[in-house]
Amino acid sequence: MKIVRRISEFPETLHRDRPFTGTVPRTGLVPTMGAFHAGHLALFAAAREENDVVVASLFVNPAQFGANEDLDRYPRDEERDAKLAEESGVDVLFAPSADEMYPEGYATWVDVGELGESLEGEFRHDHFRGVATVCLKLFNIVRPDRAYFGQKDAQQAAVVKQLVRDLNLGVEIRVVPTVRDDDGLALSSRNRYLSPEEREAALALPKALATRDAAKARELLDGLEIDYLEEASFNGQRVLAAAVRVGKTRLIDNVILEGDPT
Ligand code: AMP
Repeated sequence: MKIVRRISEFPETLHRDRPFTGTVPRTGLVPTMGAFHAGHLALFAAAREENDVVVASLFVNPAQFGANEDLDRYPRDEERDAKLAEESGVDVLFAPSADEMYPEGYATWVDVGELGESLEGEFRHDHFRGVATVCLKLFNIVRPDRAYFGQKDAQQAAVVKQLVRDLNLGVEIRVVPTVRDDDGLALSSRNRYLSPEEREAALALPKALATRDAAKARELLDGLEIDYLEEASFNGQRVLAAAVRVGKTRLIDNVILEGDPT
């Protein structure tokens, strides 16, 4: 696996060492913020299965964090991540610095409209502006045929689909089912912030969503601080989505009520 830090190394780096087979090689991109868990590995596995070249990006994108959020304490362990990515068959790990992605004078932002303002967008102002912008940049840098996102962040996947559709990016967006721990908690890099007691309390979230009923779910979340708990429709997929706070940790999750999981 090659680790790339400079945008200028693309796209040559993708195909340089590949033998010419007579067919055009397909590239799959998995955008991540690192601190890999089995959810990330499921995205790598899906990308590995469907593409000739797999690129994972590892970039804790400052533009999608609010001023009072966890950018500074977000878990970072590039050495461990690189090892896991390599074991998962990733060919190229793109790990740029913040300056490489947003050099001095950077000024252009992607606004995805209403979709970016509801649910997560209401509680994380400008979050999806940061997500859409970094995804557009990654798509332009890597030029993937397909890009892989997790169902756990259903609204994010919808935002990226909107971006691709509206700006004619020609990238196929693939959505991978949520990977959960045995007890039902959706895997998240932020789970490591939870104390054992908080983790126990956090289990109310998957239990509540499993009722597939907003009113019943709200009862089960009694005692947790709820940012939102709502049915939402993303590209014809209906989900029950929630964000709750357990101590200082903010967790999101959703279940599909109706529609195609991919
Ligand atoms: P992150 O590094 O948290 O930004 O996540 C990178 C990608 O992994 C996003 O597309 C997430 O939706 C996806 N992801 C995160 N957690 C999970 C999970 N538990 N199951 C499946 N995909 C996930």
